[in-house]
Amino acid sequence: KESRAMKFQRQHMDPDGLSNNSNYCNQMMRRRHMTEGRCKPVNTFVHEPLVDVQAICLQGNITCKNGKPNCHRSSSSMKITDCRVTSGSKYPNCDYRTSQKERHIIVACEGNPYVPVHFDA
Ligand code: ADP
Repeated sequence: KESRAMKFQRQHMDPDGLSNNSNYCNQMMRRRHMTEGRCKPVNTFVHEPLVDVQAICLQGNITCKNGKPNCHRSSSSMKITDCRVTSGSKYPNCDYRTSQKERHIIVACEGNPYVPVHFDA
C-alpha cells in the first residue's frame, strides 16, 4: 500500500518539472493519478529538491487549516505550480488552469522519520 509520505511525493513533488506550458496541469494531474474517480479540484506541485521540502518539517511550526498542530512553513520561498480545475471542466475530461508562483509553502508532517504528508497552503 502507498504510504502517506509516498502519496505526498506523488501528489506534490516535481523537482525537475518546468511548468512553462499551459498544459502542465492537464498532463501532470492525469499522470499522477489525480483524475481517477473525480477531478481533484486543487493541487500544488513543488519544483525544489525533495530534501529541501523534507527539511520544512524542521522549520517554523504552525497550526494547520484543520486546527492540527503539525504544520510547518518553509523558511525560503519555493518554486511551485498551482493547478485548479476550470469551471467548464467535466469529469472524465479534467481541465486545469496552470499557474507558476514562488511562495513560502506550508506542509503537514507526520511519522518517524517526520516527513511531509499533506500540502496545507
Ligand atoms: P493533500 O491534502 O496533500 O492534497 P490528501 O488530502 O490526499 O493530500 O492527504 C493528506 C493526508 O495527510 C491525509 O492522509 C491526512 O490524514 C494527513 N494529514 C496529516 N496531518 C494533516 C493535517 N494537519 N491536515 C490535513 N491532513 C493531514
